[in-house]
Amino acid sequence: MSALPAPGRALVVGLATSGRAAAVLLRDLGWDVVAVDAAPIDAADLESAGISVRAPSDEPVAADLVIRSPGVPREFAPLSAAYSAGTPVWSEIELASRAMPNPIMGITGTNGKTTTTELLAHLLREGGLDAVACGNVGTPMASLAGELPGDCWLVTECSSFQLEDIPTFRPHAAVLLNVTPDHMDRYPDFEAYRQAKLTLFAHQGEHDLAILPPGLDSSGRSRARRIQASGPPGPDAVSWAEGGLHVAGLGLVSPWSDIPLLGAHNRENVMAAAAMAAHAGLGADEIARGLATFPGVPHRLEVVGVADGVTFVNDSKATNPAAAIAALDAYPQGVRLIAGGSSKGTPFDDLARAAAGSVVHAYLIGETGPQIAAALDAEHVASSLVADLPTAVSRAAAEAASGDVVLLAPACASFDQFSGYEHRGEVFREAARDAGAR
Ligand code: ADP
Repeated sequence: MSALPAPGRALVVGLATSGRAAAVLLRDLGWDVVAVDAAPIDAADLESAGISVRAPSDEPVAADLVIRSPGVPREFAPLSAAYSAGTPVWSEIELASRAMPNPIMGITGTNGKTTTTELLAHLLREGGLDAVACGNVGTPMASLAGELPGDCWLVTECSSFQLEDIPTFRPHAAVLLNVTPDHMDRYPDFEAYRQAKLTLFAHQGEHDLAILPPGLDSSGRSRARRIQASGPPGPDAVSWAEGGLHVAGLGLVSPWSDIPLLGAHNRENVMAAAAMAAHAGLGADEIARGLATFPGVPHRLEVVGVADGVTFVNDSKATNPAAAIAALDAYPQGVRLIAGGSSKGTPFDDLARAAAGSVVHAYLIGETGPQIAAALDAEHVASSLVADLPTAVSRAAAEAASGDVVLLAPACASFDQFSGYEHRGEVFREAARDAGAR
């Protein structure tokens, strides 16, 4: 990992969680820190910490280093000025990784990042190593500087935006879980989005590990492993084969039946986390123990309780049809699906086809309810439009037979009725409790 230059003046562009953490870290390291955000923000805490906060309309400041927050487009004037002046522009994870001695694991992909990040941190801790989950999961890496022993693993969830402007960021093990079109409002085309994700591997060395989906190359120097959904376990693969999870070098790690995470999509996440845990030195037994005890991540296929043989599952994070289809894949029959929310302009035909085998009845809420109802109707799946989420849960619970699953997998954003997917999941949890789920 490269060192930091001697302190000078730094400009931090974007003052959400990671920008703030970067500003404070630089100040602690002796830099003169100036910060700017496109929106008016309350920055009293930063000002009182000696960080000067400016409006975008103020005169531009000359800086020796610019830190760019992941949400800020390259075209924002203070950033484009820095690019054209040749000033180094770094992502917050580049800064933090230079300021900290800790070994790093990096996780990216369109779907599954948070689950894999939390699972890997759990596996490492269960195996007796020190590890924290950070990055896009909510705790910026920069906020951990000076807080951890030097050998604590930083298990870092990286969005594609965080992977821009990382001239030396080098994870010891890294995974790209999958790439499907997303964020097309921020990239010129799909290839540019894919390239941003592949940057995760760009600075790895020959003793590092790169885990890739089939058909993609890292073109880095690291040892590549493939995530292989089926087929005999190859020498360089981590695979699901012959009834269990195989990791190259360790052999059979665990039968799938001992791993509580459900669904084919979670196999992808499990394979990646297990291969990275092996790279950190864990043995097959330690990994198997960690997989068996992983409690899951809230709002991702989270079993919130059972009442009279009916299981209530919260997958509020399924904010697009692909994620909801992945949830349906985990429950092959007896599903009472609760879906709908605010529209992102996606069609629901694939969701309706996936529902046709397993959904007994769908309870539809929000803006997109009528559109989903029409798609389900075309596949002969029965549905009802209901007023709100608590009504959907109580009706589904009342109509469910023992063995059924009441599944919240909305396939939509939540902002028409909730402050975010977490809020929506909490309302579901409460309603399930009211229906007797324990
Ligand atoms: P991210 O952090 O990338 O958004 P999460 O782990 O939070 O991913 O999962 C988001 C949603 O995507 C979950 O609700 C789940 O249904 C679905 N999902 C999780 N892992 C995968 C995967 N590997 N492939 C496809 N869908 C997935």
